[in-house]
Amino acid sequence: MRKKIVAGNWKMNKLADEAVALTSELVNMANDEVKGDVKVILCPPAIYLTTLKKYIEESPNFALAAQNCSDKVSGAFTGEISAAMLQSIGIEYVLVGHSERRQYFNESNELLAAKVNIALEYGISPIFCCGESLDQRQNEDYIGFVKNQITESLFHLSAEQLLSVVIAYEPIWAIGTGLTASAEQAQEMHAALRAHIATKYGTETAEEISILYGGSVTAASADELFASPDIDGGLVGGASLKSREFTNIIKAR
Ligand code: PGA
Repeated sequence: MRKKIVAGNWKMNKLADEAVALTSELVNMANDEVKGDVKVILCPPAIYLTTLKKYIEESPNFALAAQNCSDKVSGAFTGEISAAMLQSIGIEYVLVGHSERRQYFNESNELLAAKVNIALEYGISPIFCCGESLDQRQNEDYIGFVKNQITESLFHLSAEQLLSVVIAYEPIWAIGTGLTASAEQAQEMHAALRAHIATKYGTETAEEISILYGGSVTAASADELFASPDIDGGLVGGASLKSREFTNIIKAR
């Protein structure tokens, strides 16, 4: 059985006191309301990771992720945060290749492969994001495009390394737009990606890897999405900033 994961990507939102308040509300609500086995990963701005760690300590189903890390080990890279630094404060996950980083910071599949490598080297699980634009969906082989993102950034890994990676399929046209992919559209892609992984690593490995859906997930859409056979949870942006809404997403299925 693959693990169900619900991750909340806060992006560049929340001030320090708001970050603490949201985290404690989520932990309290989850303790009271969430039954069953679901991993909750909060991805706050890096500046809050150390503080928030204390607030999730007593909740083994909660973990923290950085939103990015450098592809370099250390040195003269002003403003960057290394995987070793994340490891040194006990962070377990890092988002790699979010479409906003690909778009605004020109992150290529090749650079993302390097980030995946360095995260794994320091014992941090990459949450590898992939997804097509609206133009690609309408005019190109959009499934081939996303498969290629995975080939170029992940297929150099061993099967054992790959199993430390979580994949998040996030169609760019659905991110922050209120336009969720339908459960059929998402399931089609997730099944295709799992089959693609099976061609390289075999069915057993492909069946073990968690593939999350992201793009305007809400409490209202989560049930149907998460009930699809190849969708193992969600990467949630806007709706992860509200404790009630995000808790309802964690409870979905
Ligand atoms: P959204 O963002 O849920 O606000 O669409 C998802 C994401 O960018 O990870």
